[in-house]
Amino acid sequence: MTELVTVEGTGAALTERYTGALMNTFGAPKRVLVRGEGCYLWDADGRKYLDLLGGLAVNSLGHAHPFIVSAVTSQLATLGHVSNFFASSPQIALAEKLLSLFDVPGKVFFTNSGTEANEAAFKITRRTGRTKIISTVGAFHGRTMGALAVTYKPAYRELFAPLPGDVTFVPYGDAEALAAAVDDQTAAVILEPIQGENGVVVPPDGYLRKAREITTEHGALLWLDEIQTGIGRTGDWFAFDAEGITPDLVTVAKGLGAGIPIGACIGLGAAAELLQPGNHGTTFGGNPVSAIAGLAVLTVIERDGLLANVVAVGNHLAESIEALDHPLVAGVRGRGLLLAIELTQPVSDRVAELALQAGFVINNPVPNAIRLAPPYILTKADVDAFVAALPDILTEATA
Ligand SMILES: *Cc1c(COP(=O)(O)O)cnc(C)c1O
Repeated sequence: MTELVTVEGTGAALTERYTGALMNTFGAPKRVLVRGEGCYLWDADGRKYLDLLGGLAVNSLGHAHPFIVSAVTSQLATLGHVSNFFASSPQIALAEKLLSLFDVPGKVFFTNSGTEANEAAFKITRRTGRTKIISTVGAFHGRTMGALAVTYKPAYRELFAPLPGDVTFVPYGDAEALAAAVDDQTAAVILEPIQGENGVVVPPDGYLRKAREITTEHGALLWLDEIQTGIGRTGDWFAFDAEGITPDLVTVAKGLGAGIPIGACIGLGAAAELLQPGNHGTTFGGNPVSAIAGLAVLTVIERDGLLANVVAVGNHLAESIEALDHPLVAGVRGRGLLLAIELTQPVSDRVAELALQAGFVINNPVPNAIRLAPPYILTKADVDAFVAALPDILTEATA
């Protein structure tokens, strides 16, 4: 067999090579990682970390989960890719399994990422014959041009104008502002049930129910971006389940493949039929290997009762951090295993760096909040190890 040539070296040496060979879009890498198992990671210098970020809410089952490894390897050895001129059994099984999580009939379009799932949904909204879209202040929906058009952050948008138009942003969590913005020309309202990239911002109870009423009244689609919150992250299959509503479009990605790239745009009810032959396409989307990964994830979540673990361990994590009563902690917000530690000072970058030095991967989406999005298999003992180390990290961050 031909030798596979990869690179080896210390973290510092590899970081230098990374900088020489990869486009500078992400800033300097924090570490070079070489191995993962369960909720743990190891870097090129042999240091071990508890992964409380889960590859940015992606590694729902942790690293190297045996069931995923076995499902993906055997699928790759059986049938790895076919074009979308052909169907495959993993793709059909995953679509049916996803649809079984909703209480109305629907149809699925598979993609390779979150932003592509939103692109598909965006195109579906245009097939209503209307063009007007309402999004929200603070929203993040992806980096491709269509998804960027419904993303709020000026720093992400401005350099790339003109973006697809007819998008209006209203304050997030404000049902009255939404009601005032939606009219009979509105194609769709796009919302994250919890704004992840904006720092795990949770809207008031009843907001999604109100959004459902408003969109129904005007014949507009309710498009929920569950790319970060979906597939069990909040302790329900979808974050909107907590409000007992049925949206028209649901986009998922991150947690679905547990690390194998896959996303999906799910159309429910009449929205399932808006895309017609030739309207959209993808070469890789729904590929048998990524589809089997999605199927394996949903199967393990069910088999191992992981939704209940997400709730129990998530509550334990939130309560334990609040019980520290540390002056830098203003509170904990979020649901299940999508949590933010609200800080009383804008030092989240310092907290994240000190945590990394102490062996914990966490994330600083905004200056005054730390985000935690660990694997669903996290244990209370893992939580206790982090919470025991946290006071020193927080105190040093403000020193
Ligand atoms: C991450 C994310 C996206 C984009 O997904 P990519 O796979 O990075 O393209 C879109 N919407 C939300 C809510 C996300 O969290």
